[in-house]
Amino acid sequence: DNAQPKKPGWIRVKAPGGKGYAETHKIMREHGLATVCEEAGCPNVGECWNAGHATMMIMGEICTRGCTFCNVATGKPNPLDVFEPGRVADAVARLGLNHVVITSVDRDDVDDGGAEHFAMTIRAIRKKSPGTTIEILTPDFLKTEPGALETVVEARPDVFNHNLETVPGLYPEVRPGARYFHSLRLLQKVKELDPAMFTKSGIMVGLGEDRQGVMQVMDDMRAAEIDFITIGQYLQPTPKHHAVDRFVTPEEFQAYEKAAWGKGFLMVSATPLTRSSYHAGDDFARLRAA
Ligand code: SF4
Ligand code: SF4
Repeated sequence: DNAQPKKPGWIRVKAPGGKGYAETHKIMREHGLATVCEEAGCPNVGECWNAGHATMMIMGEICTRGCTFCNVATGKPNPLDVFEPGRVADAVARLGLNHVVITSVDRDDVDDGGAEHFAMTIRAIRKKSPGTTIEILTPDFLKTEPGALETVVEARPDVFNHNLETVPGLYPEVRPGARYFHSLRLLQKVKELDPAMFTKSGIMVGLGEDRQGVMQVMDDMRAAEIDFITIGQYLQPTPKHHAVDRFVTPEEFQAYEKAAWGKGFLMVSATPLTRSSYHAGDDFARLRAA
């Protein structure tokens, strides 16, 4: 059945526009870069891009996975572009960012899952913009050769983010091809490899999970020593994608936020329009200043 609950008033999407937005758009196109902001049809694009906050999506626009919430095309990707890390670094310098978030598609077709490409991108940004803090939002490196995760961690991003996306019971229908405990373990391993690195993860709500399930995910995250958490409302990108089960109320988000702080996360963002990369720089700067 495809009857969808009506979008409530608290999901407001401002039409993108303005000088900052146009400039960000221009920089992305001039450097031939894809962004998850556009690919995902993110509701915050107007606000973020006006401030120059674009989340670049590396390793192509075709993903080897087919998560049912995600608008990125599934198929056979093109070979990795060795010049892309340099273009990303140039774009970051042009945007003059204090904090940048870099994400990617999943590359199960490449032996290291794109780990070296991620590492090259981190190093290229560091070299050009040494003052910029770097957050990466990575795939799960599920089927990669040994050492892939180590390669990424050794490039020393400031924040290592990998999203659990949903409760384990919904994995078969939401994240086929991924494994909940593998993703959790990936983040735990980052912490083991480099205890000084901040780890981050997030879930979407409104996919059919219940409150108890969300609480359990938070506990699992803390058991894996994950530092930051994001929780946002799932929005259906097209009618072909996973249905919205319900719209979680702002009050419920507040309760999740409170619970998350109580469980010991260092940074919590839980609002209907929260996305992994939403205000990521502000939150990180606040944490570092504290
Ligand atoms: Fe892009 Fe993230 Fe902002 Fe959305 S929240 S527009 S994905 S930077
Ligand atoms: Fe989308 Fe990432 Fe899933 Fe690929 S792995 S389909 S980019 S969410």
